[in-house]
Amino acid sequence: MSTDRKTTTIDEYCSGYMEFLDAAKTEREAVKASLALAKKQGFVPLENTGAPLKPGERIYVNHRGKALILFVRGRRPLSEGISVAASHLDSPRLDLKMQPLYESGGLAFLDTHYYGMIKPYQWTGIPLALHGTLVCKDGRTVELRIGEDPADPVFLIADLLPHLSKKQMEGYARDLVGADDLDLLAGTLRQDPEHFAEGDIKRNLLRILREKYGLEEADLVSAELSALPAFRARELGLDRSMIAAYGQDDKVCAYPALTSLFSAEQCEYSSCVILADKEETGSMGATGMRSPYFSNFIEDLGEREGIPARKILPPSFCISADVNTAWHPLYGDVLDPQGKEARLGNGVILFRYWGREGKENTNEASAETTAALRKILDDAEILWQTGEGGRVGCEESGTLAHYLAEFGMHSIDLGVPILSMHSPCEAAAKSDVYMMHRSLTAFFKRTISPER
Ligand code: MN
Ligand code: MN
Repeated sequence: MSTDRKTTTIDEYCSGYMEFLDAAKTEREAVKASLALAKKQGFVPLENTGAPLKPGERIYVNHRGKALILFVRGRRPLSEGISVAASHLDSPRLDLKMQPLYESGGLAFLDTHYYGMIKPYQWTGIPLALHGTLVCKDGRTVELRIGEDPADPVFLIADLLPHLSKKQMEGYARDLVGADDLDLLAGTLRQDPEHFAEGDIKRNLLRILREKYGLEEADLVSAELSALPAFRARELGLDRSMIAAYGQDDKVCAYPALTSLFSAEQCEYSSCVILADKEETGSMGATGMRSPYFSNFIEDLGEREGIPARKILPPSFCISADVNTAWHPLYGDVLDPQGKEARLGNGVILFRYWGREGKENTNEASAETTAALRKILDDAEILWQTGEGGRVGCEESGTLAHYLAEFGMHSIDLGVPILSMHSPCEAAAKSDVYMMHRSLTAFFKRTISPER
């Protein structure tokens, strides 16, 4: 490692974060990486004994390997509410279709269906890795991770050469590369073309799947395979002030949520971290925030202490920890006209509402909730800023906040500014990542509530 400047606490913290990013590119990988960290910090699975948790007890619930709840019992009764930080583990990517493999024109491809909001053209011309889980009919599970090891092959979505792109470049950017044309180059001829028969390339790939992984083509039907950038998290900028990586939305908040919970000892209010799946596609599905796994968990906790969940959730204080829009001088036309957008490196972003148009689809944090968070942040000397999330009328976004508010909790967004969001390589400032850790640490140590 080069030693052109002193390594700071922030650099050290961020090197742990970058390791996490490399290990946690899919939600299943992220749950595994999070659990590995949590177990080292004394978290154990919630037992089915029905016994009340004791102050300081650290437990987790692994929800189908794709979502995770971690909990530290605080000193106060659950009826005073708990502290919740919720982030998501899924990131935009290209999922393989159920019958992805086809051969055409002497090339074999893997056909994809994109996951989350992307600009399709950004996914061409970069090395892609294939990550995922296949479950065979007999229950055998195969984990694939091809393209991360330097010795692995990678995949590529081949764009049209500029020399022939006159017509393509005159069209709308959304149609430059059609969403259904994001097909991975997966093979071509390896033998003498004279002895080549149509279908040989696909047959060869199927042979590799069978011999190397014991898989049949039909097993791809029951697979969760995703193509995502094959590059690792890197320091960004000559001054190394930033991080460039895939999947920082929302691991840039999920990782600080974990590390801050780990530091939560002897907290007044019980502290909870939710790491959810499916946020990028609307939080639906059994592992998304709209499924009842969180409220079921709270009900279970309450039953152990003779308190109904409806008495625990409403006084609870919840931070929806997710990324947020950052100012970029070249894109001012879609950002706040007064320049009141968050800036990279200027701290975490306190945000009261996402949504679109006339605050549709937003929970909007109340003045009371917002004031309580301001006090917690200021008392801990946190560098924070507000943002607007884009010019009014241009915005169209959401986080977990409104699903969490549906439980009646005090919910507000706090997150990290990101540039190049939802692209294969997103940028965050190191100091903001560390500030997110410090913010959530202060939040879990809170002694005040928006209730009063
Ligand atoms: Mn997000
Ligand atoms: Mn997102």
